[in-house]
Amino acid sequence: MRKVLKFGGSSLASAEQFKKVEAIIKSDNSVAYVVPSAPGKRNSSDTKVTDMLLHVYATACAGQDISAEMDAIKARYNEIIEGLGLKDFNLDADFEEIANSLKTAPEKDYTASRGEYLNGKIMAAYLGIPFIDAKDIIFFNDEGKLNTYKTQKVMEAKLAEYDKAVVPGFYGMGKDGKVKTFSRGGSDVTGSIVAQAAKVDVYENWTDVSGFLTADPRIVDNPKPIKYITYRELRELSYMGASVLHEDAIFPVRQVGIPINIRNTNIPTDEGTWIVESTARKQDYVITGIAGKKDFCTVFISKAMMNSEIGFCRKVLQAFEDNNISVEHMPSGIDTMTVVVHQDEFMEKEQKVISAIHRLAKPDAIEIESGLALVAVVGRGMKSASGTAGKLCTALANAGVNIKMIDQGSSELNIIIGIRNEDFELASKAIYKAFIG
Ligand code: ASP
Repeated sequence: MRKVLKFGGSSLASAEQFKKVEAIIKSDNSVAYVVPSAPGKRNSSDTKVTDMLLHVYATACAGQDISAEMDAIKARYNEIIEGLGLKDFNLDADFEEIANSLKTAPEKDYTASRGEYLNGKIMAAYLGIPFIDAKDIIFFNDEGKLNTYKTQKVMEAKLAEYDKAVVPGFYGMGKDGKVKTFSRGGSDVTGSIVAQAAKVDVYENWTDVSGFLTADPRIVDNPKPIKYITYRELRELSYMGASVLHEDAIFPVRQVGIPINIRNTNIPTDEGTWIVESTARKQDYVITGIAGKKDFCTVFISKAMMNSEIGFCRKVLQAFEDNNISVEHMPSGIDTMTVVVHQDEFMEKEQKVISAIHRLAKPDAIEIESGLALVAVVGRGMKSASGTAGKLCTALANAGVNIKMIDQGSSELNIIIGIRNEDFELASKAIYKAFIG
């Protein structure tokens, strides 16, 4: 068994956290590669090092003095180095290099990436294993997207030289030869790419929660954890707002069938959540999880005999496409159709879209409503259970929530309901209670 372990920012925010990480790594013979994030928050009022770096970059661009901010960043790392008792190790030359680059030609991605780079160096020194600079093994193409082919080829060859190594997360090299980062939270992606290239058996992603929860803990008290979730279910839940893992982290491991295990650095005995391709394990509940988002708009379009007009939907959708607006859902009736869109994407272009629909599709009437929330009830178990939609509707009716839209895909993996923004919390609680208890 071989594994890649990725540790998030809060798992590496201080020397104490580093010690927990060391204990996790040392207690597991199967650890091959370790992917660290930059130091995160030590407490709720703290600042992540990546944010400090982005701030000092802005200060440098404004031509202001960076010394106080650089000192604060140095202090974060030196506190860790000292706390770990690392003798004969320091990052002074690196700090100087970063300060010089900020003074001469500040680069945003390079500056932001130093959080992971420096933390990776500390980790390699502390664990006594080699450090591989991500810029030498992760490559982006002209469009700024990951160059999968080159990355896999070069990374595979490089990793083969080492049994164990630290690869800092979040960045690689752009087509122009400069450091380039993934989007925020991108160390998850690095971990996934490393797991894929090294063909390990498991990608463990260590964070500060014991995996995915069946509902948002800000809404439902102590929601039950999810033990097993499929990639597809996760995609549905993440899309609707459940966030633990960077969205792009799924694809590399999914391609080669490597499961992801989300674990809690602060409670390493918790099993966490397993994200898998498919599983025969029986679920504790019919549904796997509930997630949702507020602030959608509905555009209701009616036209007599719409059902027999070939191409009507296409013309309506053309109006959205021309205005660069993505469509979320599209429930329809015989002479009506409703297009659900994100409020913030739609608002400023609404009149343009309406006139485009009139011009292209010549409807009888268009009505817009805002303040819609969507709740997704996701679960592979729904396929073989009857009465899920009935139970859902009953729960909402008993809670006095009016359902404005309901949409179940033919995959029977999820049911999406549209309700008023004000009912969002109430609805989420009622659904949780009905299915999970
Ligand atoms: N340090 C980066 C961020 O704060 C990347 C990461 O932690 O995954 O977004």
